[in-house]
Amino acid sequence: MAPPGTDLKTAPARPIRFEITDALGQRPTTTQTGLGTAGVAPVTPGLVANEDNFVFATIKDLVSWARSRSPWPLGYGLACCAIEMFSAASSTHDLARFGAEVFRASPRQADVMIVAGTVTHKMAPRLRRLYEQMPEPKWVIAMGNCASSGGEFWDSYSTLQGVDTIVPVDVYVPGCPPRPEALVEGILRLREKIVRGG
Ligand code: SF4
Repeated sequence: MAPPGTDLKTAPARPIRFEITDALGQRPTTTQTGLGTAGVAPVTPGLVANEDNFVFATIKDLVSWARSRSPWPLGYGLACCAIEMFSAASSTHDLARFGAEVFRASPRQADVMIVAGTVTHKMAPRLRRLYEQMPEPKWVIAMGNCASSGGEFWDSYSTLQGVDTIVPVDVYVPGCPPRPEALVEGILRLREKIVRGG
């Protein structure tokens, strides 16, 4: 790294050695790039940045990384948990920090289904149809106890005992209701899964 105060525009260019050991040894000491940190496991698996802002990655890792930074949820809610989901997108909790604020009105434009609320047997076929109308790749977050397991309606004649009986769930967010921060945490866990190619 150049000494502090060096004018990088006029300083002679430092030769770059492209051997992988050189690049790994020069990973940045900050998380500013969000791609890697010296001495610890990379924040984004498969992506390594050095101090010259060169990024080493495969196309697959780059695509997974890009997908993880812009999950677009389907905009719908089923019960009280939906109010917390709306709040997560508000300025107070600012889901936009993580690229997930673009709630879509059409399943064909969404890649994340947040099941926010109680799923009744009457609603289940409609929910499954919405899921099937979403393009691949797609992910599902079960938000709250009702969506995860039936919640307080677990023994009701009308309630599904967990939405994972009709669609595959990637992340479960516990609580009744979960606070908006919990949903934001769920989105971050989903990002980790997407970036690993999940
Ligand atoms: S988990 Fe609680 S807050 Fe969420 S839909 Fe069920 S009863 Fe409502």
